[in-house]
Amino acid sequence: MRLLLLAPPGAGKGTQAKRLSEHYGIESISSGELLRREVAKGTPCGRAAKDYLDRGDLVPDDLIRDIVVEQVKKADAKGGFILDGYPRNLSQAKEASRLADDEGIGIDGAIYLDVSRDELLRRLLHRGETQSRSDDQEATIRHRLDVFDSETRPLLDYFREGGLLIPVNGEQPVEHVTQDIIAALTARVPPSQSPAATRSGSPDQPRSDGGSR
Ligand code: ADP
Repeated sequence: MRLLLLAPPGAGKGTQAKRLSEHYGIESISSGELLRREVAKGTPCGRAAKDYLDRGDLVPDDLIRDIVVEQVKKADAKGGFILDGYPRNLSQAKEASRLADDEGIGIDGAIYLDVSRDELLRRLLHRGETQSRSDDQEATIRHRLDVFDSETRPLLDYFREGGLLIPVNGEQPVEHVTQDIIAALTARVPPSQSPAATRSGSPDQPRSDGGSR
């Protein structure tokens, strides 16, 4: 199973990515988490990214592309992934689609968690009070929501047109959101027809787990 998770800040990407990763036995990759790790380690990439993160702006495309692609390839070799936070604008989506074609890594769906702006703001302000992310201050939160609307929201049409968009109501209890996602994916990609299951049936890559990833 290869999934993208497309949702505004505060919609529950991290929570759902973890739950789906456990359900499908696939790796969860978060572009924001990868960047925060680079910042914490003080790598050249982290130093270049830090100010963008603190302001709530997208980092330049080439800064994020290579780290994400490396993780995606590794995860795919192990059975699949759920990628949260990439692509995040149209040029990243086109680049991702080119790379996917080159590497033969097509995705099974792009999940969109739909949550109203008021609810997102409420959740992020609450997170800002209880956790210590440098971008969870009110002005930065509002800016990140604006960046989502201007840069990332156009991707909904892009994936809808590609027949890949899976919209889910993200304003439900956590487990209901997960159930809706799994139900939608089961309807689209029956386990026996998923790319991972097809691969598992090939003679050179025998698998014994039923290929439900
Ligand atoms: P949130 O969705 O709550 O803002 P993330 O952890 O997904 O949190 O992203 C945090 C920050 O990381 C973003 O505001 C941005 O600066 C940077 N970032 C993450 N993914 C990308 C990406 N694909 N392209 C550019 N910047 C990114």
